[in-house]
Amino acid sequence: MVTHQFANVRRQLQLSNSFWDDSAAHGLVDIVAADMRDGHVHDRDGRTIVNFSSYSYLGLDSDPRIVAGAHRGLEETATINSSISRMRIRLALLEEAEQRLSQTFGAQAVTVSSCAAAAWATLPLLASGELTDGHPPLVVFDKNAHFCLNAMKPLVADETELITIAHNDIAALEELCRNHAHVAYIADGVYSTGGGAPLAELFRLQDEYGLFLYFDEAHGISTLGPRGRGYVLGAYEGWREKTLVIASLNKGFGASGGVIFFGALGDDALKNTLLRTSGPLMWSQRINTAGLGAIVAACDLHDDGTVDERQKALQERIRLFDSLVDTELAGDGLPIRFVSIGQEDTTIAVARDMLGAGFYTSPVFFPIIRRGSAGLRLMLRADLEPDTIRRFADTLNASLAAHQDRAEQPA
Ligand SMILES: *Cc1c(COP(=O)(O)O)cnc(C)c1O
Repeated sequence: MVTHQFANVRRQLQLSNSFWDDSAAHGLVDIVAADMRDGHVHDRDGRTIVNFSSYSYLGLDSDPRIVAGAHRGLEETATINSSISRMRIRLALLEEAEQRLSQTFGAQAVTVSSCAAAAWATLPLLASGELTDGHPPLVVFDKNAHFCLNAMKPLVADETELITIAHNDIAALEELCRNHAHVAYIADGVYSTGGGAPLAELFRLQDEYGLFLYFDEAHGISTLGPRGRGYVLGAYEGWREKTLVIASLNKGFGASGGVIFFGALGDDALKNTLLRTSGPLMWSQRINTAGLGAIVAACDLHDDGTVDERQKALQERIRLFDSLVDTELAGDGLPIRFVSIGQEDTTIAVARDMLGAGFYTSPVFFPIIRRGSAGLRLMLRADLEPDTIRRFADTLNASLAAHQDRAEQPA
């Protein structure tokens, strides 16, 4: 029996231990906060740290209206979780949350406990051919597709043929479409490492060859597109057939859980298939009632223009940041930035300087990314004060220059 075709857990663990050990040794992980209101970490040592590594791009995570929605969910149902399969008995609040998500995003929605669970619930089903007229498709993964998608490869490979291609490699994908009757492409809408999927080209392949498009919109949802429809759904009106979108409700959206958008608004045909074939949707863990209440409240903020306003504020902050700090992806309109530094020890030193000045950034290096290409991953939020961004940029540029000088001095 062939092993390690798709992963090698022990090797992965050995490699990543050094990353986490180094980060821990320098106080860059295991920070414990009493609360994290408005993107500010109030830690146990009395420090206030501005979080430049938060997924809450719109600053909705601590919005009082969403917190109030969570309270409402708990009070109305007088329970935290409904401990029975939703197929049998479900709370009215679950139906309400899913109806609201469907209306707000203009696509039929079903919720699940996380985006990762959404991947589990949908990728084997897609591989089975159930979503492509009974023909198991050739499943093509983008090399940079998120961990939670890659983790499903063994199950996908048990249903059909799969191949991984280079990042955003449209030519390779088109070649596969020419030579295979049924192809499905697995990608992130917005990549956690930065950048987006080449949508116009992908839609062209969908129109020309009937390519099935599967997107992970963990970062795109709410953050981008009209009324927060996201990077993918925000690129068009209504619904494109042969598409499936999964997303996290824990990031820009400001609530909790995950969602699967599986059809045009009002077209529920696929719902029972999804529910009946997908373990994570059936078992005891659903989004709890606080999370469901929060989802309904977050939908209000998408519908009433709050999200559009926050998006504008975010775009202003992205432009300000790009005018102050030079990064490869500057100008792409997305809130994720990577400051290339190179050496791992320099990266840690810069992250420590930033933390000392009250800014949290995420150092990332091997094995998360290639050896020698270490750097800081930053995320911007709509509720960062422009002056905070200026102070951050000054501190970062000074720290980079100082360590650059040191690196250039002869040893
Ligand atoms: C964070 C993330 C996920 C996981 O989302 P959860 O809701 O935490 O499971 C999936 N895909 C991408 C691209 C992510 O960044």
